[in-house]
Amino acid sequence: MKVLSVASEAYPFVKTGGLADVVGALPAALAPHGIETTTFLPGYPALAAAVRDAKTVHRWPDLLGVEARLLAARIGDHPLLVLDAPLLFAREGPIYTDPTGQDWADNWRRFAAFARAAADLASGAVPGHAFDLLHAHDWQAGLAPAYLRLFPGPGTPARSVMTVHNIAFQGAFDAALFPRLGLPPTAMDVEGIEYYGGVGYLKAGLWAADAISTVSPTYADEIRAPEFGMGLEGLIATRRDRIHGIVNGIDPAVWNPDTDPALAARYTADSVDRRMANKRAIEARFALDTEDGPLFTVVSRLTWQKGMDVLFWALDELVAAGGRLALLGSGDQGLEAAFRDAALRHPGRIGIRIGYDEALSHLLQGGADAILIPSRFEPCGLTQLYGLAYGCVPVVAHTGGLADTVIDANHAAIAAGVATGIVHHGVEHDAMVGAIRRTVALHADRDGWQRLQRNGMNTDNSWQTSGRLYARLYADLLEAR
Ligand code: ADP
Repeated sequence: MKVLSVASEAYPFVKTGGLADVVGALPAALAPHGIETTTFLPGYPALAAAVRDAKTVHRWPDLLGVEARLLAARIGDHPLLVLDAPLLFAREGPIYTDPTGQDWADNWRRFAAFARAAADLASGAVPGHAFDLLHAHDWQAGLAPAYLRLFPGPGTPARSVMTVHNIAFQGAFDAALFPRLGLPPTAMDVEGIEYYGGVGYLKAGLWAADAISTVSPTYADEIRAPEFGMGLEGLIATRRDRIHGIVNGIDPAVWNPDTDPALAARYTADSVDRRMANKRAIEARFALDTEDGPLFTVVSRLTWQKGMDVLFWALDELVAAGGRLALLGSGDQGLEAAFRDAALRHPGRIGIRIGYDEALSHLLQGGADAILIPSRFEPCGLTQLYGLAYGCVPVVAHTGGLADTVIDANHAAIAAGVATGIVHHGVEHDAMVGAIRRTVALHADRDGWQRLQRNGMNTDNSWQTSGRLYARLYADLLEAR
């Protein structure tokens, strides 16, 4: 089976969040099931550099008004296609925003052109590159299933899956640009790409795809309600029989404490004591006191979604309880400034790195005792999975994928030997402080804590199960064709 995986980011080339990790890991996760996954990405500078010697396999003289060509390469064992359209993608810096932090004004064209090219590929327009199924990820690829449905090409049309990694990002644009998308006028309809009077790219994908998936069973349920569906709950509800919740796995080639080059000391579930060297390294890098008390970490976008405002207001209590915090993140400027202030107020107890640092994120998972993830919503979440794999006990809000992957250390779960973390209900001050205090108390019992760490490290968070679920979803769609 040949699958075209369409996304705007993929580790190790371009990454702004969990989407990239998942898209980067999917080809290897699906290969054992007889699926060849070709990843299709926009030709950002990092990609253009990575495929410098690639072959041009197709040209579009006018792809929604710009010239583009298709480059074919391989990453390891897996095929890669890149849309080389310099007018759209040859821009240094963040991929979605201009140097002032505003979304690029032509994002509508960038990701419509990308999606149109993906649909052309899936409909057999490029000789030698045929696909059974198009798998679109998030709003940037959302128009691809719609173009494919409206222009299926000759022969048996490819099937399509639309995966929602975060329904908060929807690609909603003004209706005025509709005529420039090259779609038939009838497509500007509730049964089409119209979305609250404008144009919705994610909405279009949800409308057009043969199946919808999101990245955890709990989130698949949650997005039927307005609080989580964010405007799309009506459409989600009408398509509920086609929605699948499949949790993300982690890529063992990238996230394994036994082989991780970013760690000061490598270890396994049988040698968690060795994590101490990583803790010392974190203390040194974050100018924290050297001691054995509980060290919390955060590796996150600093946003409202991630509950970072609630965490900020709990910092005095965290320090008063004997905790320390090493935080790596970037995002909301107000939150960045607030955390910087907190570090000044609590020297030796709170250390902050504003920015994005892949290697440091590994060290934090490898040396901190617990990772705080108080998300208001979390489709899947990856940092709790990395925490589990690294013995960095996740302290999470009961939502989405966090609820599906972390087992709270209550008395029953501890007695049964299955607890892997600390789960709090609600993202507000008292719940947050309660979870922090409970973590500090659990950490004081060294043997009990190590059991918690080992349970997490022995949890199967590989792609094995989820790879099988995607493979079955694809196979069912092809059978129904
Ligand atoms: P989201 O995609 O919503 O941001 P996830 O938990 O699914 O959240 O994935 C976040 C990914 O980004 C993880 O791989 C995490 O380690 C990484 N990450 C987030 N912030 C940073 C940062 N400041 N530096 C390095 N890695 C980060």
